[in-house]
Amino acid sequence: MVQSKTGVNGGRAFWPSEAQVHYIFAMLKPARSSRRITIPAALSAAMVLLAAASAQRIQAEQGAEGLSQPRIRVTLLGTGNPRPVISRFGPSILVEAGNHKFLFDCGRGATQRLYQLQISFNEADALFLTHLHSDHTVGIPDLWLTGWVMGRHVPLRVWGPEGTAAMMKHLEEAYAFDVHMRRDLDERLPAEGAAIQAHDIEQGVAYEQDGVKVTAFTVDHGVVKPALGYRVDFAGHSVTLSGDTRISENLIRFAQGTDVLIHEVLDLEAYRAADTTYTTAQIEKVIAHHTTGEEAGIVFSRVKPRLAVYSHIVPPEAPNVIAEARKHYAGPLELGEDLMSIEIGEQIEIHRAGK
Ligand SMILES: [Zn+2]
Ligand SMILES: [Zn+2]
Repeated sequence: MVQSKTGVNGGRAFWPSEAQVHYIFAMLKPARSSRRITIPAALSAAMVLLAAASAQRIQAEQGAEGLSQPRIRVTLLGTGNPRPVISRFGPSILVEAGNHKFLFDCGRGATQRLYQLQISFNEADALFLTHLHSDHTVGIPDLWLTGWVMGRHVPLRVWGPEGTAAMMKHLEEAYAFDVHMRRDLDERLPAEGAAIQAHDIEQGVAYEQDGVKVTAFTVDHGVVKPALGYRVDFAGHSVTLSGDTRISENLIRFAQGTDVLIHEVLDLEAYRAADTTYTTAQIEKVIAHHTTGEEAGIVFSRVKPRLAVYSHIVPPEAPNVIAEARKHYAGPLELGEDLMSIEIGEQIEIHRAGK
């Protein structure tokens, strides 16, 4: 069962106080009908009571620290693309599993989102890149250097496709002045916090520790090679992230059995109509290396995740992508938004940031 809730405090308050419960349930009913979440309307009153009991039970189990139970929590830090709109920051997804916090891509605003969520920069020190397109990487100097200024005293670890280590080396050269000043002359910040440990990776297990496994797999972003997707497995649960790709058989293979599939999407009609500086030929090239709503529906129907979510939404307003997917896929599907989080356990729960 998928439950949809509206969180507060930027989505971190997963288990609301009693006063907030009513607000959440007020939001539940229209959300269910508009998002095809499979709870019959006639049962809504009973579901409210059940959900309240469930939330209180899990709150009791969880304690103050959050994820004491073996769950994966996914937070969409940015659901956008190169267009610099305020409503959708650049691509970045936070995945918390056990004691680990992983960032996947570091688009514009990722550092602000982490700060908004009160995530320690010492904890968010592991970054996996899907590919080196600028919308996925422009936030890296901010995460690296602002994170250091804001207290990170451990190196930033970065994994990504071929070219990642070279990009990090060039970033270190570009910001050598700042690092020298703050590390050697002025504030004398810890040298370790200014270090970057970069690793070029290929398809395969990229990271495995404490029962958390991160697997990289190749996706198909047209001429933009190499491009990776990732799957995170922990305690019998998993989330799979598409990165940027057109329909990818390899993604469909690696995503089999996954709980949650977060997939990029391009709204064909809206993108063609969007105000853009690109020529028609350039627009068609972009379309050719992304996944349309209808194509995403095909992917979802073949993977059959417990929940499918769109992120990296092109253009930011994409009114047709749910309906397009419905031509092929009838399962749970959500249009991602910034700060939406998904808790993956026996149940899957969706929390949207208060507006
Ligand atoms: Zn992109
Ligand atoms: Zn891309």
